[in-house]
Amino acid sequence: MIIELRNPAANAEDHVVSREPGLPTATTPRRVLVVEDESDLARVVKRHVESLGCQVQLAATGEEALVLAREVFDLVLLDVMLPGIDGMEVCRRLRALNRYMPVLMLTARSSDIDKVMGLESGADDYLTKPFSVQELLARIKAIFRRMDALAAPRETPVRVVDVAGGLRIDAATREVSMRGRPLSLTQKEFDLLLHFADNPGRVYSRAQLLDAVWGYNHEGYEHAVNCHINRLRAKIEEDPSEPKLLMTVWGVGYKFSPEPAIAS
Ligand code: CA
Repeated sequence: MIIELRNPAANAEDHVVSREPGLPTATTPRRVLVVEDESDLARVVKRHVESLGCQVQLAATGEEALVLAREVFDLVLLDVMLPGIDGMEVCRRLRALNRYMPVLMLTARSSDIDKVMGLESGADDYLTKPFSVQELLARIKAIFRRMDALAAPRETPVRVVDVAGGLRIDAATREVSMRGRPLSLTQKEFDLLLHFADNPGRVYSRAQLLDAVWGYNHEGYEHAVNCHINRLRAKIEEDPSEPKLLMTVWGVGYKFSPEPAIAS
């Protein structure tokens, strides 16, 4: 019994298996760079990430990481406290590259979180040490899911949201502008803004936003939401201390509350 795998409409003489551009290649293992100077931890992390079917490379210093990062990785797991160039600086330099590599920061100090997630370094996500294996793997899978969704352009509706106050969001190109001036948003900031703009007036708790935008909801990570809201406000609000678009609903969460449309 032979199972026909090819498109039945294809010419029987045609033995070339065509792959449509843009489709993820499931057979290519994802490449992950783990930057961690504690060798025991690095080895444990490597083993677990490999259990997801990923190819893992280790770097023990920031300098080494930056050399390796000349190649393309699907994810960089980056420890903040490194000898020499620290994780924040490595992340900044990765962000200055032309291509986008998701960065999951590992930090031992919760006081680092604002800096890790903030404009200074712009990581995609963070984990505070000590973390559980399940937590680490859940974060990695969430980042991969998001990257896959981004890599599937045909599933992204061509959509431009024009919000009063001059805010314009292009869901297809992921560009945001305010009165014609382009705004530079991180991936997560964009996802969060688009989620709000798609659901104007609806109130979301931090936990709901974590579910919707981050793809997971762990107790204690509501801080990441606050952090992103503050940064979004700094970019889209005229006066971030008196937001007109991204409103706080005290005791509940946040809502996107654009003013009535002004004819331009
Ligand atoms: Ca370290």
